[in-house]
Amino acid sequence: MSRRVNRVATISVHTSPLDQPGTGDAGGMNVYIVEVARRLAARGIEVDIFTRATSRALPPVAELAPGVLVRNVVAGPFEELDKSELPAELCGFTSGVLRTEASYDPGHYDLLHTHYWLSGQAGLAAKRRWGAPLVHSMHTMAKVKNAALAEGDTPEPQGRVLGEQQVVDAADQLVANTAKEARELVELYGADPARVATVNPGVDLSLFRPEAALLSRSTGLLPHRTGPARRRLRLPRDAYVLLFVGRIQPLKAPDVLLRAAARMLKDDPALRSKLVVAVVGGPSGSGRSRPEGLQALAAELGISDVVRFEPPCPQEELADWYRAADVTVVPSHNESFGLVAVESQACGTPVVAAAVGGLTTAVRDGESGLLIGGHDPNDYAAVLARLHADPVRHTRLARGAVRHAQSLGWDHTVDQLVGVYTGALTTFSPAPVRKSASTSTSTSASASASLTVPV
Ligand code: UDP
Repeated sequence: MSRRVNRVATISVHTSPLDQPGTGDAGGMNVYIVEVARRLAARGIEVDIFTRATSRALPPVAELAPGVLVRNVVAGPFEELDKSELPAELCGFTSGVLRTEASYDPGHYDLLHTHYWLSGQAGLAAKRRWGAPLVHSMHTMAKVKNAALAEGDTPEPQGRVLGEQQVVDAADQLVANTAKEARELVELYGADPARVATVNPGVDLSLFRPEAALLSRSTGLLPHRTGPARRRLRLPRDAYVLLFVGRIQPLKAPDVLLRAAARMLKDDPALRSKLVVAVVGGPSGSGRSRPEGLQALAAELGISDVVRFEPPCPQEELADWYRAADVTVVPSHNESFGLVAVESQACGTPVVAAAVGGLTTAVRDGESGLLIGGHDPNDYAAVLARLHADPVRHTRLARGAVRHAQSLGWDHTVDQLVGVYTGALTTFSPAPVRKSASTSTSTSASASASLTVPV
């Protein structure tokens, strides 16, 4: 008989669900955790989200939504830390999580859902202590990331690879964002296929929706150009707007868009009076990779006059940027899924993206956007110029984009996750954690220190 999940402990050590996505360490994973938690709570499943307190001013507990609590666990200094500094704080963090649970009756949490390997490490100790199943989402994987490094990116350390392996070996259920990620878990980390479920992340379809004009087939103009989003963002009606959204980091390759724009202007100088390249987002990580480099590149390419840099903004405002854009460009070297691509499509704006990782699921090539192999700016320039010259095709893709995004609502994600949770709880028996060859030799990994947690 299946068992009902009533309360979930979600762990997100390195980034808080209350952080603004699009800068620092906050991105799609934060959005995922918030959207899923809200919807679980609406279905009567309470969620406590444990994260590390980065400021003394943060309360120990904050209500994010009815039925969703954010627990700010004190571990290490009250400041943002680089991900590489976090393994040293995992022991203190995990103790804090365990102390919270110990203040309740046994069995307070039915299940743990951990996000990213650092949280998985904390989850390993909690799983053993609570006798509760561990569901884990990798979001990104060191082995995959290292195989697709952008110029200027540093490889992920071996400690992370080993730490990830430990989590994969011990998790009762792994949640992959795409079928491709599920295969990578099996092929690269030796995960048991029976313990890997594929659940696509989603999009908030009530927030990310097209302007009404797009839905009317009668309009002859490209509907974006007639809409109020352009007025609100002070963009000319006749501009050709190319949009980049996300953290400014080599992995996301915003430089490819800038170089492509420069090439388009070289090929068609008349476009200069119309082209706008909007870059919405902030620096990545703890501020070490700065967006100034991108501004310098724009100057070097002689296109500063057409590039508009915008700070990260709330999703309500972001929806306007998507609606105002002609095309959203996602030239990333890798994406576990690519929420930006789906949000843009939900707003009726086709995506031109690199054919990598989750983007091959997030975008339907030729239907809702166009995928490009590799990262040659000339290829992007050619595709974008062709699309600019072919409004009929653009409109067809815009409509296809809305259709595709509508199959990716968060409610669908949560339907599937509830199934995964129920399955994990029903089949769970608190057995000893499986060991792999790699775990038994991993004592030198910095991550392994976290496994000796005082309780
Ligand atoms: N985002 C935001 N404001 C911004 C820039 C981005 O809220 O100014 C959000 C965006 O809506 C998306 C997320 O950040 O949901 C980025 O997710 P994605 O999967 O595209 O990339 P990740 O950050 O996970 O690499």
